[in-house]
Amino acid sequence: MTPLPTFSDVVAAAERIRGHAHQTPVLRSSTLDQRLAAQVFFKCENFQRMGAFKFRGAFNALSRFDAAQIQAGVIAFSSGNHAQAIALSAQLLGIPAVILMPQDAPQAKIDATRGYGGDVILFDRFQQDREVLTREIAAQRGMTLIPPFDHPDVIAGQGTAAKELFGEVGELDYLFVCMGGGGLLSGCALAARALSPRCQVIGVEPEAGNDGQQSFRSGAIVRIPTPKTIADGAQTQALSEMTFAIVRRDVQDILTVTDAQLVEGMRFFAERMKMIVEPTGCLAFAGAVHGGLPIASKRVGVIVSGGNVDLQRFGKLVGDAP
Ligand SMILES: *Cc1c(COP(=O)(O)O)cnc(C)c1O
Repeated sequence: MTPLPTFSDVVAAAERIRGHAHQTPVLRSSTLDQRLAAQVFFKCENFQRMGAFKFRGAFNALSRFDAAQIQAGVIAFSSGNHAQAIALSAQLLGIPAVILMPQDAPQAKIDATRGYGGDVILFDRFQQDREVLTREIAAQRGMTLIPPFDHPDVIAGQGTAAKELFGEVGELDYLFVCMGGGGLLSGCALAARALSPRCQVIGVEPEAGNDGQQSFRSGAIVRIPTPKTIADGAQTQALSEMTFAIVRRDVQDILTVTDAQLVEGMRFFAERMKMIVEPTGCLAFAGAVHGGLPIASKRVGVIVSGGNVDLQRFGKLVGDAP
């Protein structure tokens, strides 16, 4: 197995992305702090370039390409934010990018990926195996495949979000992080272990897609069918060996939240903090509020992972009566 990334890889990633990625703001809500009797620090990756933390991992991975890799280009498969992150990073670094996206991916995400200069190839996810297809094209064109989470440079890049948070607010008692394939969670856990060793790092998944929780509890990677949830960024079926190894070692627990709790989070962010947060971006917050952990009187970090959601979908989700 590839060696696991370490905190020094997170530090190196932070150097590489400096001046390219935004140092996103850490925001607070006094209303919320009063309600929870806690101090909550939101690391707002919805304000990251292309609207989600995924720019960090993608840019870090692509900055390590050698001359031959730069010339042949990068290939990725993603229905969402990873596609935009690779397309934008590739554009900034002058690397050709091919992105495979399912035909039924949200139009805004397809448009945004094309807008960043990505060569989008649409495929039918019910008929075609995207991994096989991606590997075929990668082999034909000599392109380097950068997966959305199962890669040491991607994980190290995502960890820079938590590194910045600790750098800004100091040590924390809890850090809540959303989880799909576990790239963000494992990178943030590497940073937490080094910068705030007593901090409990908690992963949060949609209830319908709790493969990570099942894996964590059983000690072996559990694979589930594609879950039905509004958290489209966390519809992964399984962790990878790399993310699972870090999560098992450095994460204290994995919680789940319901779609209704995610919508409540979207409303809270919109009403109280004037921010548009995508459903997946609300996982960590919902886990902090509803997860049953004793956060009262504690210092609590919450990673708000992204803000990419069609306005129409946003309106539908938050506009419906609770
Ligand atoms: C990709 C993504 C996630 C999940 O990240 P993983 O590294 O796969 O766990 C969460 N939120 C948003 C907004 C994402 O784009």
